[in-house]
Amino acid sequence: MEESDETLIIDGAATAEKVRGEASEMLKAARENGVEAGLAVILVGEDPASQTYVRLKTKDAAECGIRTFDHRLPVQTTQAQLEALIDECNADPDVHGILVQLPIPDQLDPEAAIARISPEKDVDGFSPDSLGRLVRGLDGMRSCTPAGIMRLLEEYDIDVSGQHVVIVGRSTIVGKPLALLMLNADATVTVCHSKTSGLADICREADILVAAVGRPCFITGDMVREGAVVIDVGINRTERGTFGDVDFDSVAPRCSAITPVPGGVGPMTRAMLMLNTAHAASAVSAQL
Ligand code: NDP
Repeated sequence: MEESDETLIIDGAATAEKVRGEASEMLKAARENGVEAGLAVILVGEDPASQTYVRLKTKDAAECGIRTFDHRLPVQTTQAQLEALIDECNADPDVHGILVQLPIPDQLDPEAAIARISPEKDVDGFSPDSLGRLVRGLDGMRSCTPAGIMRLLEEYDIDVSGQHVVIVGRSTIVGKPLALLMLNADATVTVCHSKTSGLADICREADILVAAVGRPCFITGDMVREGAVVIDVGINRTERGTFGDVDFDSVAPRCSAITPVPGGVGPMTRAMLMLNTAHAASAVSAQL
C-alpha cells in the first residue's frame, strides 16, 4: 500500500464486482464444457433479513449465470424433512452448490443440517469437512466472509505476513475461520471475545484490527493504533439505520485503511459465494 496521510476507504463493492466477473468467466468455461452451474437455496421460515439475503444472492447468481433452485420450507419443517431435501440436492447432478440460509427455526439443528451437505457442494464453507480442511491447510471451500476479507486485503496490497492481526469475535462463520486464514498467510493472530480482559489494550496493539462482534459502533477511536488497518464485519440494523461494529467517525481519521458499512465486507461475502459455486461447477467440468 502506498504511504499517504489520507485514510484509504476500501471499496468492497468494486472488488466484489471484479470477483463476480472472475466467477462469470469460470462459469462460462464450465458451460462451454456442458456444465450449467446450479445453486440450491434453502430457506426455512419467514425471517425478513434471511429473505432479503436470499433475494440478493439469487440476483447475484442470475447475473453471474448460475441457475438457482429455490426451496422455501415452512417454519414448522422437521429436521428429517430438511435433511431429506439436502440429501436430494446432494444427489442432484444439476446442483453444484447448496446453501442453507441461517438462522433456521429453533426446532432445527443447524450443525446437523450443515454437516449433511456434501463437502464438494458446501459453497458456504461451514461444514465440519470444510473447516477441518482449513485447519489442516488443505484445499477446500472457504467460508465466504473470511475469504472475502482476505481477498479485499490482497486487492489493496495489504500484506498480512508478519503483521499482528487482532480479531474481535470468535464465531464459527467469521472469527475462527478468519484466524486460520490469517495464520496460514503468516500473520500473528490474537482472537478476542466477550470474556477477554483488557480488550482495548489488545486492540491498540493491532496492525490489522477486525471487528466481528455484532454490536453497533463497538470499536471506538481510542481502541485503534494510529495507522492501523480496520476491517468492519458488523451489520447491525437499528431504528436509526444500519451500522457496523466500528464507530467509523472516530476510527477512520486514525487508521490507514478502513472498510465502510455498507459497501465493505458485505458485498464481498456474496461475491465469494458466487466464486465458490463457480469453483464447484468447474471441478465437475474438469472431471468430464
Ligand atoms: P456472533 O454473535 O456469532 O459472534 C459475536 C462474537 O463477538 C462472539 O465471539 C462474542 O464473544 C463476541 N463479543 C460479543 N460481545 C463482545 C464484547 N463485549 N467484547 C468482546 N467480544 C464480544 O456474530 P457473527 O460472527 O455471526 O457476526 C458478527 C457481526 O458480523 C454481526 O454484526 C453480523 O451481522 C455481521 N456479519 C456480517 C457479515 C458480512 O457479510 N459482512 C457476515 C456474517 C456476519 P463470545 O464468543 O464470548 O460470545
